[in-house]
Amino acid sequence: MEAQLYYGGSWHPGVHGRQFAIEDPATNELIGHAVSADVNDLSLIIAAASLAFKEWSRTEVQERAHILQAIYRTIMEHQEELARLLTREEGKSLSESRSEIAYGARFFEFYAAQIFQAYGKTLSPPVNSRAGWTTKVPIGVAALITPWNYPFAMICRKMAPALAAGCTIIVKPAEQTPLIAWQFFSLLHALSLPPGVVNLITGDPEVIGPALVRDERVRKVSFTGSTAVGRRIMHNAADNITALSLELGGNAPFIVFDDADIEDAVRGIMACKFRNAGQICVAANRIYVQRPIAAKLTRQLVSAVTALRVGNGLEPDTQVGPLINQEALDKVSEHLHDAEEKGAQIVAGGSKRAGPGYFFWPTIVTQVNEMMKLAREETFGPVAPLSIFDSEEDAFQAANDTPYGLSAYVYTRNLGRAMRSSQSLEFGLIGINDPVPSRVEAPIGGWKASGLGREGGAEGLDEFLETKYVSVRF
Ligand code: NAD
Repeated sequence: MEAQLYYGGSWHPGVHGRQFAIEDPATNELIGHAVSADVNDLSLIIAAASLAFKEWSRTEVQERAHILQAIYRTIMEHQEELARLLTREEGKSLSESRSEIAYGARFFEFYAAQIFQAYGKTLSPPVNSRAGWTTKVPIGVAALITPWNYPFAMICRKMAPALAAGCTIIVKPAEQTPLIAWQFFSLLHALSLPPGVVNLITGDPEVIGPALVRDERVRKVSFTGSTAVGRRIMHNAADNITALSLELGGNAPFIVFDDADIEDAVRGIMACKFRNAGQICVAANRIYVQRPIAAKLTRQLVSAVTALRVGNGLEPDTQVGPLINQEALDKVSEHLHDAEEKGAQIVAGGSKRAGPGYFFWPTIVTQVNEMMKLAREETFGPVAPLSIFDSEEDAFQAANDTPYGLSAYVYTRNLGRAMRSSQSLEFGLIGINDPVPSRVEAPIGGWKASGLGREGGAEGLDEFLETKYVSVRF
């Protein structure tokens, strides 16, 4: 497989023809190459997107809606082949890949309808001889920079509202997962969109990333990735005051109160923590259990976690696939080592699986405290760290004691507690007895170091629109 650059409606090998290799994280086999673009390629791509913006921004809403519907249909027709490539490149189980493809497709279906709701307002006239109104207009060329952990859905979550709004786009996928982006673009190419509306660049982010963000022709950068890179993008965007959406890292608390349904809470932890081998921004990173139920919940969790089937995502019964690379494995090991040194106990898993691939056994750690890296940083692996708490106030205080603010989870059957949790937790997304609250129709985004702006829902479309106010005196 060879992923080329895509711009101006056709494929390009790159000015210098350099490539980089992509490996299967389950087998370490080489599965393809992608073009390593340089700044000359980038300039051509931005030029193609800028040229196309003039026409695309003026297309009728209905035409754009029809194109989005066609994209939805083509993704679903090719769901299986997209899912297989996603599993090979990223490692998640095939059933998770199928879900990710369907989730990504839904953004096109949703924004094909949502674009008809992008109303402006009519202002009440201060005097009879004046009128005023606002309209929503596309912001311009948008750079969409995406991570490797949901490499298909994160492109769709940005691309669908951007195209619906009338923006032309440049997608820059993560260097670990360019192939799924390339295959998606092959489907888009077959739909014959106007040249320059959708464009793809791959390569070394240190070479093309800053140049893409700093280019004055790019009017919007929508980024999903780590907080560290998000900060650098913010600095680079400052030159031209380029509009930004930043979907950054999380450090989600998962609080289980003593009145919760324990079996349901265990199922919730399994879904929230071990999907995609724990490599999710909204994964439970710190699990707080109220003292009276801690022993029982831990026992049930150990038995559920040790029953998880770890393996190549292409095997039909696999539940937990590999981590993305050696660096990810090293980070998990380092966090566990740090926790053990500070007094934590590993009660399940705790080591890399022998043999090829970047597999780590699903792990449970008890007696975790706030001094440990497990509690302070995103571990991004299949590790469930448990801490015990006594009072509701202690739980909320511990949960909020983080620079991050993306997602938080609470399990309780007490309505008052549920309501107090929703008020007290300082996070953009709160799941109450709901371990997977993300939905296409809902605005997803973080507070504090977890980001700026929202994706999904009506809010996700606004990120690609400018407001224009017109006043008329007559
Ligand atoms: P990353 O920050 O390393 O990379 C993300 C993207 O940024 C990649 O495409 C990368 O090539 C690019 N990039 C790197 N340096 C750049 C630069 N200087 N300028 C421009 N682009 C640059 O993140 P990752 O390791 O791919 O993804 C994991 C992170 O993403 C985690 O922190 C996770 O929490 C976060 N994430 C957040 C959400 C969310 O919705 N908030 C969703 C998924 C992942």
